[in-house]
Amino acid sequence: MPLAVYASDPARSRGRRHAEPPAPTRSDFQRDRDRVIHCSAFRRLVYKTQVFLNHEGDLFRTRLTHSLEVAQLGRSIARALGLHEDLVEAIALSHDLGHTPFGHAGQDALNDCMADFGGFEHNLQSLRIVDQLEERYPDFDGLNLTFETREGILKHCAHKSALLIEAGEPVHADGGGDVGRRFLERTQPSLEAQLCNLADEIAYNAHDIDDGVRSGLITIEQLESVSLFKQYLDQTRLRHPHLGDTSQDRRLLYESIRQMLSAQVYDVIDATGRQLLNTAPEDVRAVRAAPALVQFSEPMRRASIELKQFLLRNLYRHPQVMATTNQARRMVRDLFIAYMDAPRSMQPGFAARSEALRQNLDELQARARVVADFIAGMTDRFAMREHERITGERLLT
Ligand code: MG
Repeated sequence: MPLAVYASDPARSRGRRHAEPPAPTRSDFQRDRDRVIHCSAFRRLVYKTQVFLNHEGDLFRTRLTHSLEVAQLGRSIARALGLHEDLVEAIALSHDLGHTPFGHAGQDALNDCMADFGGFEHNLQSLRIVDQLEERYPDFDGLNLTFETREGILKHCAHKSALLIEAGEPVHADGGGDVGRRFLERTQPSLEAQLCNLADEIAYNAHDIDDGVRSGLITIEQLESVSLFKQYLDQTRLRHPHLGDTSQDRRLLYESIRQMLSAQVYDVIDATGRQLLNTAPEDVRAVRAAPALVQFSEPMRRASIELKQFLLRNLYRHPQVMATTNQARRMVRDLFIAYMDAPRSMQPGFAARSEALRQNLDELQARARVVADFIAGMTDRFAMREHERITGERLLT
């Protein structure tokens, strides 16, 4: 399918923070995707918890495999809708770069630690990584991604943070920058960015069922209470009676998940296609001014919420998951206190970085931000090793 008029077009990108000559063969969105794949934060995703701690088993999703699944689903939908696949991929692969070790427990703990210093939010941190923290280029910090990729990374943003981001955006003649403005003006991002949001949800709903059953924390019987899943479970049993044997449970589960996943993908393509037909945005500018256009149909939206609620109750808040999250929180807290007391015990370079931040922040705030950057960048296992080195205590093993 050719690129639709409402798709983002790299030839009409709003540009990078630092102007660069075009590449001979690759589009700007391709370059963004390539820059993300080569950056250090991307490689760390392989050792970061999605739901199950990294060391609990080799087959559970990590932030990396989750991001790859989001990219795959996003590209499939983008192609059917005539959106720009490379942009979708660049956003999908970078959307979780800012996550702390230990999943949401890590983020909550770090946010608590940062309460007096501006807080911590993984989404803002993803942008911070691609804008400032990666050190790969001779003349600028970060990866210098296009506005469109940065816009997609910044999924949500509080009013206060949007004002701060806006203050730091360069003013270009070509209109590059201003990635925080839509949160002040309450407009939408590109369709590619909207799509990555939904692809993220489709991906984790499906893979958390798989990982949840693999872990033994939820069962197929329990999942029969979720109407969306039950529909595809029943259908699979009907079509493949030999999967009724309990020795075939893995195949039964995979086939049911596969059917559910396909149904959600086709639902988004249908529902969004209808919205695009009705609204007929003539370009990306019209997309940004319109209400959100990438969506599930109403029945699928409700079914997806029911599934999410099931996972929240039965998996994310399972006592066994909670037990590990309490230890993870403690580790993050201990590390934060230790580095605030002795910044030089961080890796070389981090203590020095807080000096650079003091242009805009007071001493303690600058130190806290650098400590948060250091901790957020850690993989699960590095955080555990650091915690043991500093406190002599071995947790989560
Ligand atoms: Mg995600």
